[in-house]
Amino acid sequence: SIGKISLEQIDPLSAKSYPLCMRQLHRGLRDSHHLRHGGRMQYGLFLKGIGLTLDQALQFWRSEFVKGKVDADKFDKAYAYSIRHMFGKEGKRTDYTPYSCMKVILSNPPSQGDQHGCPFRHSDPELLKQKLQSYKVSPSGISQILELVKGMHYQLACQKYFELTHSVRTDSGFSLNHPNQYFMESQKLLG
Ligand code: SF4
Repeated sequence: SIGKISLEQIDPLSAKSYPLCMRQLHRGLRDSHHLRHGGRMQYGLFLKGIGLTLDQALQFWRSEFVKGKVDADKFDKAYAYSIRHMFGKEGKRTDYTPYSCMKVILSNPPSQGDQHGCPFRHSDPELLKQKLQSYKVSPSGISQILELVKGMHYQLACQKYFELTHSVRTDSGFSLNHPNQYFMESQKLLG
């Protein structure tokens, strides 16, 4: 699917087809014009997975970072390398793959000021509840999600959120294990 997405599509896609983890990263980036390393890796690889080319990725990150504290020169010196690296164009030329849910949930938990991680696992339940309310999830849907979170069924909670926001009744027909899979399944339904 490389090259099928235009940069203008990212905002609308983030609202309708991103899982919460990526929506949070995208919002954080747009609001603060910056993401820390963990966020850049998690979101950068996801974007690569949904089809951004290296040139698009450089343009995307640069245009956002220069709105913040980083000028174009500093961006090219300090950040462009790691983006090319993500695409396997630097260093050992490893072609890094986007993180799975298990990796996001189990490794590198976010600290204060970080935007990465899995909101179902790493957000305070009260904040998660407020976020779900602001995304217009029904009170009964929110209870179901919070119940799953309480039982530590984070991916099922995410899948429930998918079902509630895509009008799929009880069986979405897949078993969620990857943020990029969430995106593809969403695009199949809403594309
Ligand atoms: Fe992202 Fe997976 Fe967590 Fe959903 S369960 S928010 S896709 S890491």
